[in-house]
Amino acid sequence: MGLTKNNGLAGKSAALVCAVALCGSVALAQPKICIDPGHGGTDPGAVGNGLQEKAVVLDTGLKFRNWLNLDTQDGAGGGSWNVIMTRTTDATVSLSGRTTFANSNGANRFMSIHANAFSSSSANGIETFSYTSGSSTSHDLRNKVYEEATAMWPLTKRGTKTANFYVLVNTNMPAELHEMAFITNATDASYLGSSSHRDNHAKSEMWALQRHYGQAKYTPSASYSTIVDNTSAGFTPGSGWWTSTSTAGYYGSNYHVRGTAAVSDASTWNFTVPSAGTYRVEAWWTDGSNRSATAPYIVSHTGGNTTVSVNQQINGGKWNSLGNFSFAAGSNQVRLSCWTTTGYHVIADAVRVRTP
Ligand SMILES: [Zn+2]
Repeated sequence: MGLTKNNGLAGKSAALVCAVALCGSVALAQPKICIDPGHGGTDPGAVGNGLQEKAVVLDTGLKFRNWLNLDTQDGAGGGSWNVIMTRTTDATVSLSGRTTFANSNGANRFMSIHANAFSSSSANGIETFSYTSGSSTSHDLRNKVYEEATAMWPLTKRGTKTANFYVLVNTNMPAELHEMAFITNATDASYLGSSSHRDNHAKSEMWALQRHYGQAKYTPSASYSTIVDNTSAGFTPGSGWWTSTSTAGYYGSNYHVRGTAAVSDASTWNFTVPSAGTYRVEAWWTDGSNRSATAPYIVSHTGGNTTVSVNQQINGGKWNSLGNFSFAAGSNQVRLSCWTTTGYHVIADAVRVRTP
C-alpha cells in the first residue's frame, strides 16, 4: 500500500462490532490465525529498489507461518496455532476474497502484511493500522505487532494508526494491517529485500501474537528453521503423484503419494537458508505397511547429491532426521524419488530444515 490509498467501506454495523468485541475476549486453545500477504498476481503492489511488494509480503507471510508452525510443533514452545493464509502463491486475490476467506473459515485474528511506498524516496519507517471503529482487541493486536516490529528492525517509528481499509472494515474478527517499511526508501528496502531480515520480522509477528494472547515469546533452540509442506509454494510434485488424506498423521492438510517405479519422477521441496552453513534436514510422512522401506530422499548440498533411504512403514506423523548437510545461502532442494523396489508407495509430506 502507498501512503495514499482508497479507503474501504466505512460503517461496520454496531452488531458486528459487538460480535468482534465478544470474540476477542475469548481465550482459545488453538487460535486460528489468518495471515494476509497483500496484493499478488496481476497486482504487484508497491515497487521500488528492485523489489515488488507482492513478493516481499508473500515471503514474509510464509515465514510467519513457518514460525507459528514451529512453535506449535515444539513441545517446549508457548503456543499452538492453526494458521490459514489468504494466498500462499503469487495469486490474484480480491479484497472481498480475502475477508470472505477469513470470515467463512472462522479465523480468530486477521493479520495483513504490506510494504509502504511514496513518491519521495525519503519517506521511511514502520506503521501499523487497526480499524477506526475496531475493538480494543484489534487495537491491542495492532500495538503488539508494531512494538515487536519496531524492536526488531531499527527503522523510523511512524506510529500506530487507525484507518478504514477494506480488509480491516470487512473482517469480523480482530484485525490489523502492518506496513513493514517503505519499499521506495533505500535503507528500508535493504531490510525488505533481505531474506534473513524478513525472517526476523516474521518472528517478531509471532512474538506479537504471543504477547497479545498472554504467552511467553517463543525462541527455538535452533536459530533457524523453515518448513516446506507439500501444499507450500516451495513444493513441486512429480507428474505421477496425487494428494491423499487416507492415513492420519499428515502434516498440514494432506500429503502427496506415488507408486514406486523405475522412472524418474521425483517430488521437490525448495527451501531457503539465510546463510551458508550446516543444517539438519528432517522429513515428515505418514506410515503404513504399503509404504516403501527404502524411500529415496535426495539431498542436494554443497558436496553434491546424497541419497538417504528411509523406511516409511514406520515413524510416521513426526519429524525424522535425514542427516546434517552443508548448504550455500539461498535456495536449496530436497527431492523424493519413486525409483526403488516396486510394489510400494512413497509419501511426500513436509520437509523441515533447521540449525542442528
Ligand atoms: Zn500494500
